[in-house]
Amino acid sequence: RKIVIAIDGYSACGKSSTAKEVASILGYRYIDSGAMYRAVTFYFMDHHVALTNPKEVARALEQIHISFKVNPKNGTDTFLNGLNVEKEIRKMRVSEMVSQVSTIKHVRTAMVDQQRRMGKERGIVMDGRDIGTVVFPTAELKLFMKADMQVRAFRRQKELLERGQLVDLDDVVENIRQRDEIDTTRAESPLRKADDAVEVDTTHIAFDEQVDEVIRMALA
Ligand code: C5P
Repeated sequence: RKIVIAIDGYSACGKSSTAKEVASILGYRYIDSGAMYRAVTFYFMDHHVALTNPKEVARALEQIHISFKVNPKNGTDTFLNGLNVEKEIRKMRVSEMVSQVSTIKHVRTAMVDQQRRMGKERGIVMDGRDIGTVVFPTAELKLFMKADMQVRAFRRQKELLERGQLVDLDDVVENIRQRDEIDTTRAESPLRKADDAVEVDTTHIAFDEQVDEVIRMALA
């Protein structure tokens, strides 16, 4: 019996690393919904789309096609209109804009539609901010992840460094704070824990232990 696993939570709590590992162990497909919002943001920045102009936003969304390709090295690469944008969408300039773009209603409906289509085949792990509440409210397993700010910022800074980006810890903290603030207060499907989600605090647990726990819940 293959299920849908929805992983939501605050920025940089280890959602995607957990989701990726769980998917690989279970032989499920991993879908990074945040990468989709990042790809849209990258496109909007690249094409100077005026965020306050609904017509421009709608027209731009029609031009955007996002897909994923499994890559044996780091998991999954994100493609925007056939171009690998994995590296671009992880840059700070995109991180600094993505939450603003994600408040736009039309952007969200377009992404949610596509995410639901991707979820038609069972056996998926999807992470994001509204997966358990909006995209897959009937997901069999829902997790809500959180962690202390210092731990999140350190982990994210290390991740960025591994991607070749040297970013000040203060700037990482500031970005995480800002995104959490926008994500939890926006009008359209704000980040919140689904009533039936299991809360996981990753501050003090080792990664492997956390993954084991999720696998146990998935197989229960
Ligand atoms: O998951 P990640 O941190 O890469 O997501 C980047 C941003 O995309 C989030 O801060 C949030 O603003 C937005 N997002 C969203 N809904 C999702 C996934 C991401 O609004 N399901």
